[in-house]
Amino acid sequence: MIFRQLFENDSSTYTYLLACEQTGECVLLDPVIDTAERDLQVIQDLGLQLTYTLETHIHADHLTGARKLRALSGSRIAVPKMDEIACADIGVQEGEAFRVGNIELRPLFTPGHTDTHHAYLLDNGMQQVLFSGDALLIEACGRTDFQSGDAHTLYYTINNKFFSLPDETLVYPAHDYEGRQITTIGQEKNRNPRLGQQTTEDEFVAIMDNLNLPYPRKIDFAVPGNRDCGRCPNNVPSEYLGPCDIAEVMPEQKTRVGDQG
Ligand code: FE
Repeated sequence: MIFRQLFENDSSTYTYLLACEQTGECVLLDPVIDTAERDLQVIQDLGLQLTYTLETHIHADHLTGARKLRALSGSRIAVPKMDEIACADIGVQEGEAFRVGNIELRPLFTPGHTDTHHAYLLDNGMQQVLFSGDALLIEACGRTDFQSGDAHTLYYTINNKFFSLPDETLVYPAHDYEGRQITTIGQEKNRNPRLGQQTTEDEFVAIMDNLNLPYPRKIDFAVPGNRDCGRCPNNVPSEYLGPCDIAEVMPEQKTRVGDQG
């Protein structure tokens, strides 16, 4: 397997490239519209073909690159089935493996940050690898105070779905704001200040209720845009319109290969 951890600066998002060396197929997990061309260049330089984009959840802090990548490369858009996103090509759900070449990802239903959030588990042959989305971050977790977030639900998700995994499980989150790249389940059980050391549910909810985070700067256009696979809605402020160009123009100008399947 070929693996790359790619970073989008403005939203501090990690996009993961997972590629099957045998077939040359690959998936981008949580691509960002701002870095769609960069991601495609990485894929091209590796001699790979983008087969799928896959989302962990409906993001509020950036627009997904899914639609733009589909227009540019013919990739197919995969999302959690329960999101019921009409523009997506396939839906994934817990209990059904998602395959890209010889790579197998196991979707895990992990609500709390949003009510349809999914994480993805991979066995790399030596240990399990968890792509935790925004549910579990490095010594942090995704916020639960907007969209369909719920701190009680996130507590249940992390303790029951994540902390039951082997301590050696590698954890790659969808964000980090301090330049950290990876953690493990064991490390989060020990060091996560919100959830580690057997924090109780009441303690966790109190922490989440008192974070006093600012209103997400892109949420008003990112959520409706992401429900439409990363189409830029009319309310995108001018300073964020740059990456919208191709996603909006390409479909009219050329045949949309990705929409034929
Ligand atoms: Fe999020």
